[in-house]
Amino acid sequence: MGYTNSPLVSYTKLSPNNSGTRTHSIDRITPHCIVGQMSVESAGAWFAKASTQASANYVIGADARVALIVPESQRSWCSSSRDNDQQAVTIECASDKTHPYAFKAEVYMRLIELMTDICRRNGKTKILWFADKAKSLAYKPAADEMLITVHRWFANKACPGDWLYSRLGDVAMKVNAALGAASSVKPENMPEVRQTSTSAKQVLAIGSEESRARFLLDLVHDTDKSGILPSVTTAQMILESGYCSTGLAQAANNCFGMKANLSGNSWESVWDGKSTYTKRTAEQTASGKVYYVTAAFRKYPDVEHSIMDHSCYLLGAKNGSRQRYEGLTAAKGYREAITIIKAGGYATDVRYVDKICSIIERYHLDRYDSQPEVKEPEKTVTYIVQAGAFNSVQKAAERLVKVRKIVPDAYLKYEGGMQKIRAGVFSERANAERVVEQLQEAGIEAIIK
Ligand SMILES: [Zn+2]
Repeated sequence: MGYTNSPLVSYTKLSPNNSGTRTHSIDRITPHCIVGQMSVESAGAWFAKASTQASANYVIGADARVALIVPESQRSWCSSSRDNDQQAVTIECASDKTHPYAFKAEVYMRLIELMTDICRRNGKTKILWFADKAKSLAYKPAADEMLITVHRWFANKACPGDWLYSRLGDVAMKVNAALGAASSVKPENMPEVRQTSTSAKQVLAIGSEESRARFLLDLVHDTDKSGILPSVTTAQMILESGYCSTGLAQAANNCFGMKANLSGNSWESVWDGKSTYTKRTAEQTASGKVYYVTAAFRKYPDVEHSIMDHSCYLLGAKNGSRQRYEGLTAAKGYREAITIIKAGGYATDVRYVDKICSIIERYHLDRYDSQPEVKEPEKTVTYIVQAGAFNSVQKAAERLVKVRKIVPDAYLKYEGGMQKIRAGVFSERANAERVVEQLQEAGIEAIIK
């Protein structure tokens, strides 16, 4: 196959640091962080020096212009791996000088555009990101597949930096969307979007907050069959969209503040992958300090799509190889569900769990929740097995996941300001002791109360 170069190139400064014609066809792309908000001219001058002993096929400068440094037909010296650079098109991107080596938004979007173009010109219809070195290096891409690899797998380096590394799932999703591959993939568990189409403007026109809350609960109940409790989704929607009144809801039918770029995730989504709405928004640090960011948010044709995209996110988002909101659909009651959501990193507001619960309680939004809040039988209960009590919802949820491997119906009980893990209630002490023993064997501390 004949090699070509990208039409996105607007500056060329060829580097002597290359091994001549590739010995392997292109089936990888390796994006790097250049560690500096550099222009294509200064990066080009640096790689033009033989003493630099390094290069890349392309550089994306801080202003998002693209430079050609080593033609795609040749092997660049970029990733500390001869094998990788024989197979890969390498791209150095302007980034911050320090961890996590963040990119400017324009540079990130240009990288996606350049990677899409490289796939197209090299006959690839799909790009793959496994976030796993062993799996990636053992993988033999099909003729129409491109694989993403990273420098840190080949040398003791942070490259491409945690900022980009955590977004490579998003990069793959966007490149695939542009290549037209993503739309043909639909997982079995992906819920259908309901046939109705309701705008946030119509919801706002309903009138009082209470009538809007009731309407939204019915809409969520009818729309979303994902298994997430309707009370939780409805209350999140009410809190995050101000009962569908916020600018973001009104202009984009985005009722959950879903950003266009969500780090590290490539779940299957009902969002079209391209419609966005940009606005300034308040965020909160873990300590409660408010700050502002300008961000691109997802735009939907109707509220139903917003509800479904949010559920797809909660069920599909990953943190490394783990489900970010593990155990969500098995939650016994809304407080446990929202605790799992908060612990997975969904919200920055430190009072998020309490805010959601108070909305649910104010409007009795748990009407459709099929699994009622766990009620402990009175009087007959004598022995409660408790496997930890935490102030931190994050820690409580992590512990709950471990405990459930031993006691599948363990649950969270919010009591005295703490999240307590209940691993069973028994009328006979011997039964409680048996569970405590099993937990201790698994290295989990437990007591009988
Ligand atoms: Zn690198």
